[in-house]
Amino acid sequence: MPNRRDFLRALIAAPAGASLLFSQTPAPAPIKATKLSDRLAVLMGDGGNVAVVISDDGLMMVDGGLAERSADLLQAASTQVDSHPFRMVFNTHWHLDHVGCNETLGKSGAKIIAHVNSKKWLSQKVTMEALNRVIEPLKPEGLPTQTFTKGGKLTFGKESIEYGVVPPAHTDGDAYLFFPGPNVLHTGDLLFNGTYPFIDYSTGGWIGGMASACDTLLKVGDAQTRIIPGHGPMGTKTDLQASRDMLTAVHDRFETMRKQGKTAQDVAAAAPTKDFDDRFSKGAKPDQFLQIAYTGLLRHYVPSAVAAQQ
Ligand SMILES: [Zn+2]
Repeated sequence: MPNRRDFLRALIAAPAGASLLFSQTPAPAPIKATKLSDRLAVLMGDGGNVAVVISDDGLMMVDGGLAERSADLLQAASTQVDSHPFRMVFNTHWHLDHVGCNETLGKSGAKIIAHVNSKKWLSQKVTMEALNRVIEPLKPEGLPTQTFTKGGKLTFGKESIEYGVVPPAHTDGDAYLFFPGPNVLHTGDLLFNGTYPFIDYSTGGWIGGMASACDTLLKVGDAQTRIIPGHGPMGTKTDLQASRDMLTAVHDRFETMRKQGKTAQDVAAAAPTKDFDDRFSKGAKPDQFLQIAYTGLLRHYVPSAVAAQQ
């Protein structure tokens, strides 16, 4: 079995613009900070995109990148954004390319907030069947110290933040954050900007939920809202709409095939995303997306039948 580092490099460590699952990254990418307002910055370069909220006496991190890049991330935050320590961490979901700073910051006393299901998955060994990998639990100091099951509001320093949850989509514990002041939306992995998404059916994700989540996100903010996606470059509502339209169309095609009793192999052979591949296959292979997304759809309806098929 490949070690953790190989796994991350091969499967998770996607550069900006590439997707979680399908990209091969030969060397660590630099982490680059971009200021979105006086009190909000985004760090991009490796793992999921990270937002940093700045207050007079400390920082808040939204997602934490990869564990193996945590030192680089914290240094980039300190040198490029603000040198105060992190007091709070918000995890949009449990995946290891979004919780990489949890253990370090939890140990130093930061409060960690996540959906109750994200804490559940972070607390145990999880087999991600789509990747055929086992993910170890975080150490206790990296686990969320506060959980939620529905959306709410919080204030960090002078920044008012709204967060929301959606029914199972990318996983069964996805949250998004909206910053009304600077008009910025952090979607977590509910949006892979410009590529096919990875959908983690082992922890409750499915393509119908991804499409519905986009509908929910489209109603947050307004036409000018800037979007920090889980992966890929900064986006707009137009990018979100494009993702929503693709996911809805592919979901509908899948539903027809599911009712005809098609297997994931049948679906991949039929290439039902052909018309979307030019726009969304950058860094993601359509057949892998199809296999995983369709298996997740079957799993959503008949868990045991899919297990038997594999
Ligand atoms: Zn994810």
